[in-house]
Order: sequence, then C-alpha cells, then structure tokens
Amino acid sequence: MRIIADLRSDTLTNPDLPMREVMACAPVGDDCYGEDPSVRALELRVAEMLGKEAALFMPSGTMSNQVALRVHTQPGDEVITETGYHISYFESAQCADLARVVLHTTTTADGILRVEDVERLIDAKPRGANYAQASLVTIENTVAAHGGVVFPLHEAQALAAFARSQSLAIHLDGARLFNASVASGVSAAQFAACADSVSVCFAKGLGAPFGSALCGTQAFINEAKRYRKWYGGALHQSGMLAAAALFALDTNIERLEVDHDNAQFLAGLLSTLPKISVSNPNPETNFVFFDVSATGLSPREFSDMAAKRGVLLFPWTKGQVRAMTHAGVSPEQLVSACRMLGEMVREVRAAQAPLEPADVADDTGWN
Ligand SMILES: *Cc1c(COP(=O)(O)O)cnc(C)c1O
Repeated sequence: MRIIADLRSDTLTNPDLPMREVMACAPVGDDCYGEDPSVRALELRVAEMLGKEAALFMPSGTMSNQVALRVHTQPGDEVITETGYHISYFESAQCADLARVVLHTTTTADGILRVEDVERLIDAKPRGANYAQASLVTIENTVAAHGGVVFPLHEAQALAAFARSQSLAIHLDGARLFNASVASGVSAAQFAACADSVSVCFAKGLGAPFGSALCGTQAFINEAKRYRKWYGGALHQSGMLAAAALFALDTNIERLEVDHDNAQFLAGLLSTLPKISVSNPNPETNFVFFDVSATGLSPREFSDMAAKRGVLLFPWTKGQVRAMTHAGVSPEQLVSACRMLGEMVREVRAAQAPLEPADVADDTGWN
C-alpha cells in the first residue's frame, strides 16, 4: 500500500543525507569517560541555548523526565502536574516504578497548569510530616494533549514565583520547547528560566533520529548523571547521535514554522470534511486534533481504516484522532490525505444508512 501521508507523530521524520554525513564524520570518544567531543559540544550548546549551567545528553525524552523526577524527589513524594501532560498521560507507571512518586493531577480546561490549580491540589490533603509531601511541579511546553498550545510565559513565570515561595521544584518537559519558541517569539531560555530543570527532544520536529537533553544547575546534572547510569542510559561513542542533534539545532529550528503553517492548512482542510469536527481549528504549532464521533467510528477504527488507505493517524481518547505535521509531509500530501479521508467518511456513511438530503449537500467539493 502506498503511504499518502504519515501524520501519526513528528517523531516520524528520518535523517536526511546532510545529517547522515555529519553523523558519519563526527569525532567520537567514550562518553562514559567524558571523552566524546561531539557529546560535550552538544551539552555545552544546549546549556547555553537554555541559559542553564549544565546539560546532559539523554537517549530519550522519557529518560530525561524520569531522571529529573528521581533527582528532584524522595520516594513517596507527590508530584503535581496536569492529567494530560506526557509525565502523567504516558509515564504514570514509570513514575510509580522508578522515582516511586505519586502523581497528583488536575484536568484543566486549556492545558495550562496555573497557580490556583497547584494551590488547590496542595490544600486538598493534610500535609503534616506524617503525610505525602508535594515536592515537585511539572509543566509542559508546548502542551501536546491540548493541541500543541504554547504554555504562556507569564503563566510559567507566575507558577515559578509561587513554586519558589513554597519550596517546590519545577521541571519543564520541553520536548517541543523550540516549537513554543518559534510560535511565540519567546526564547527557549526565557521559558527555561521559569524552571529548575528542563528537558528538550531532538527526535521530534527537529528531525534527529535520537535523543534528548536534560538541563539544570551543575549540582542537579551531577546527580542526573548518576541516575542516567543506573537506568542504563550512559552511552559510549554516542557522539554520532549528538552530532545529528547539533545539526538539527543548527538547521531545523526555524523550519518548525513550516510545520505550524502546515498544521493550520490541515485544520482548514479537515474542517471541510463531513462528520469531522476539528477540535483546535487554529493550531498554534504542529498538532491537529479532530473528533470522529459523528462518523460512528471509534478513534481506533477510524485510524485503522485510514491506514488501509495510506493515511496514518494516531488514535487519541474521547472520540479524538491526532494528526501531526513534520518535515516529512508537504501541503500536497495533506490535500491528498484529506481527499482520501473525505471519501472514506462517505463510504462509511453509505454503508451505515441511506443518504439523508443534508448529507448530499455537504459532500460537494470533495470528490
Ligand atoms: C515525545 C515526548 C516525550 C518523550 O520523548 P521520547 O523520546 O519519545 O521518550 C516527553 N514529553 C513530551 C511532551 C513528548 O512529546
């Protein structure tokens, strides 16, 4: 089957030839001995870009988050976050097993965890010495589960001031921090200044095949290095991978704007399809979520049917399907993909029930 567009995630980019050439020629050494010049160069670069004392190259964003949690907390501590953030939505089991912390979450309307949310969660339980201590707040930027919105700088600043007043640490999961920066014009360092530790990912829209970096104070990074080793994430000649990440930082940050424009375009195309309702018609970055409930299909059924027609999508919860733009999809592919989805929805409806007159009218334009 021919793939029309792979919209499952922005992790689906493959390294291009210039990136592969840089990887092939990268100077390397054993990073476990601190002797890989490409890894060192990447760590210095990321620390500087984010305005932090030090950075540590990590195999994945998940490991960055899990190591950060481990360093900031004691087993049994409470971590306050939003239900839809990656740390809660995809990593709750890891949080329980590795750092052995309890997540205390709230679902916000817009994905932004605010001071009043954190206050409410702290006040929701007894906090004496005999009970769970909240020691860490985690936020995310961009907020993936809420349509890739930017966590606004003033909200992050307010939260940082509150957290410091309460002696709570803040970790920023910045897997798409550069998307936030490009979309808002706020520098990555300004966002990072609101947090004690920050993780960024190179294998999302930046297009590298691998890796993440965790940043913070030198003391924090020294501890993080210990847990990276414990968790099996200390690598040897990883400079080839660090070189790809450096290349991505040099060449692919500004390009993220193209992904954001393409997401706008995709949202517009999807909104013309029958029985599909776009949840974020004005995407700020590279996510489009759409509701397929009216087709009578579950997100999984819808995505499976679309995959058979060459359009790859990510089934989400509550009737939602996710589509993401990245360097591997062009506007032409998006047009073809939406045409295919339109045909698919009409076929589904024809199989379910005889056409109602209203259905015929909204079919025009997509054939
Ligand atoms: C992708 C992602 C991660 C995890 O990154 P991996 O490298 O896939 O482990 C963490 N947080 C957010 C917000 C992400 O989108």
